[in-house]
Amino acid sequence: MQLPKKVLIDKEVYEVRTMTTEEHGPENNIRGLCYSQGPDKTNAIAISAQIGHKQQACTFLHEVCHAILAPLKLHNRREERIVLRLEEGLSSFLAKNPTLVAHLVSTLRA
Ligand SMILES: [Zn+2]
Repeated sequence: MQLPKKVLIDKEVYEVRTMTTEEHGPENNIRGLCYSQGPDKTNAIAISAQIGHKQQACTFLHEVCHAILAPLKLHNRREERIVLRLEEGLSSFLAKNPTLVAHLVSTLRA
């Protein structure tokens, strides 16, 4: 997947980049990360370059959902369960309804 350099979520700009080796974790099983007002007070979404394009797209949606929920400051297992469900639901909705999605986007941008 061609990752954008930046993405706007609500009023926050998130830098988008590939994950570093350290970010993949000791078991190399982390696919993405979302930093909302991270240690250096910046926003970033990091996506693994070691996974396929479709998995990158799902992971990107997953991290966008974390960014959307960031103002709620949940940061717990319940947030992860909610985000996993949103990832699955949005991935399916976007893939199965491309005409409707295009219509929604053009209406929202008008
Ligand atoms: Zn997550």
